[in-house]
Amino acid sequence: MELLGTSAELLGAAGYEPIETPVFEDTELFARGVGETTDIVEKEMFTFEDLGGRSVTLRPEATAAVCRAYVEHGMHKLPQPVKLWSSGPFFRYEAPQAGRFRQFAQIDAEALGSDDPSLDAEMILLLAELLERAGARDVRLRISSLGTAATRRDYSQELGAYLRDHEGELSETVTARIDRNPLRAFDSDHPGTRRVMERAPRLLERLAPEDAEHLDAVRHMLDDAGQEHELDAGLVRGLDYYTRTVFEFTSDALGAQSGLGGGGRYDALVEQLGGPPTPAVGWAAGVERILLASDADVPERRPAAFVAVPKAEGARRAFGVARELRAAGLATQMEQAGRSVKGQLRHADRLGACVVVIVGEDELEVKDMRSGEQRPAADVAEVVRLASEASRATGGPAP
Ligand code: AMP
Repeated sequence: MELLGTSAELLGAAGYEPIETPVFEDTELFARGVGETTDIVEKEMFTFEDLGGRSVTLRPEATAAVCRAYVEHGMHKLPQPVKLWSSGPFFRYEAPQAGRFRQFAQIDAEALGSDDPSLDAEMILLLAELLERAGARDVRLRISSLGTAATRRDYSQELGAYLRDHEGELSETVTARIDRNPLRAFDSDHPGTRRVMERAPRLLERLAPEDAEHLDAVRHMLDDAGQEHELDAGLVRGLDYYTRTVFEFTSDALGAQSGLGGGGRYDALVEQLGGPPTPAVGWAAGVERILLASDADVPERRPAAFVAVPKAEGARRAFGVARELRAAGLATQMEQAGRSVKGQLRHADRLGACVVVIVGEDELEVKDMRSGEQRPAADVAEVVRLASEASRATGGPAP
């Protein structure tokens, strides 16, 4: 299973177009877009000055840059929603451990310009399907809603006051963040904090009626699609821009770093970055984590033909024969390391080649690696025919 190919097929069929944004952006974009009080912006960004004295940052996540591109290229004038997907490297200055790297790869999908709950459900189901096709094991989906920015602001105050009342039982980090970002207390592993959070007021119980309805609509569509999910009032996610739906897929087959991918709505972000009011929803999934959580083996790539070069003088002719075999659609490798003839045959066997084409000065021979039979070939066309036949017979890569 090839993850990027599968993503292109799956997302393409649902109307998502590929987009590529730069690997680095103005630091300001992430500071404003991701949120000043998030772990990412506070301590995980690779930030440096370029030769012009500008502060730039290697992208730690995809959404802010996609929103910037949406605004900069006037995509709000296109028919909405605008659906985009991308993949590439991301960078976070975190302590490396199993499943956590300072450079990692993400697949990312975003749909901008609509608050329709079917988009949230579509997004979630697309990621579920991608994980399923990738063979990810023991996958669980949690979902929640953070309401609108106003609901969240009021709730933050309420939660902040509650945390102040229990300050003595909280971790230092959580206490230090009470005023700036109290919701992050839900992510804490600190035992005292966890006990306090069990009794904390829940944002889910403070949702405005239209936000609760939106969440219900998303969940009904997931139910209709047979997508199991767990409502988790403690799911806040580490980025500040989320509103309404948030979700996360985890795998119980992984250790501490169990997040395969997640996302949510960010209805205020485009406007916050200077664009028109634009509701939007998106997700990002970690490629390395998905591979770690799946049984998928690296696909075997057996060559149909291996072109042997008995004498160095024959290399130029052999090169031409290899090119013709490839042009005929046969996976072909050739000798390129100066091995002895015996060594070349052993190497071809190790690669699992169906035939070895022996290119002499005037003659051509084809050795079937399964039967061991060796036959002369009149010309390259006959080599192609013999190699194709042998490849088909062994179930190898056929033209
Ligand atoms: P986030 O934007 O933090 O929700 O990240 C989305 C996904 O990217 C996570 O669920 C992980 O699969 C992956 N991811 C995030 N940070 C890392 C990292 N440092 N190393 C490897 N994968 C990561």
